[in-house]
Amino acid sequence: MSRILIVEDEADIASVLQDYLRHAGHETEHVADGRTALARMLEAPPDLSLLDIMLPGLDGLSVLRQARVHTHHPIIMLTARIEEVDRLLGLELGADDYVCKPFSPREVVARVRAVLRRAEGLAAAAGKAEGPVVLDEAHWRATLGGVPLNLTRREFRLLQAMSRHPGRIFSRARLLELAYDDDADVSERAVDSHIKNLRRKLSAADPSHDWIRSVYGVGFAFETPLD
Ligand code: CA
Repeated sequence: MSRILIVEDEADIASVLQDYLRHAGHETEHVADGRTALARMLEAPPDLSLLDIMLPGLDGLSVLRQARVHTHHPIIMLTARIEEVDRLLGLELGADDYVCKPFSPREVVARVRAVLRRAEGLAAAAGKAEGPVVLDEAHWRATLGGVPLNLTRREFRLLQAMSRHPGRIFSRARLLELAYDDDADVSERAVDSHIKNLRRKLSAADPSHDWIRSVYGVGFAFETPLD
């Protein structure tokens, strides 16, 4: 059983989420404004927070930004505007995932389960020496499961950023900044071609898993096998 903090000022949405999450076996707490949410996250971080963006007092993005200084518990953002997603992920504010409103409560429960499983996987992996990807930053060399990947520097930079935060979705704009810190005037399409090559090299080294997930219209995430 996990403890989920629901931060949502619309009472009916909060109550539906509470019902579904409790039914799925979670313990829930509901707060309706940003300041109370931040205080709760800092004094007793839950196992996961569902955080609405439009909130009275302190908005959800400010809560996220301030919470991230002190706590690394998983946070899923609730947003009514798809245009916010790019900003959310592009700014690297540290959200673990997002759900767009209007959503089905089932979708939220599924997303909560996936993010919790990933967090447990990361906690378990932290106890081990290394993940499947090993990066030698001094020599721009990367291996997957011990197999050399022969990456270009741009591919190396992308893999470095993405593999540090498995499951986190990186927008094309953010990946472009990571790959081209020299301000080259390139289109976001260039990212697709680097990702395509990176994906090909990763799957050549270990074809048993799909290492890079495409999120339609948003960007890409590096995924480690769950078990
Ligand atoms: Ca709201």
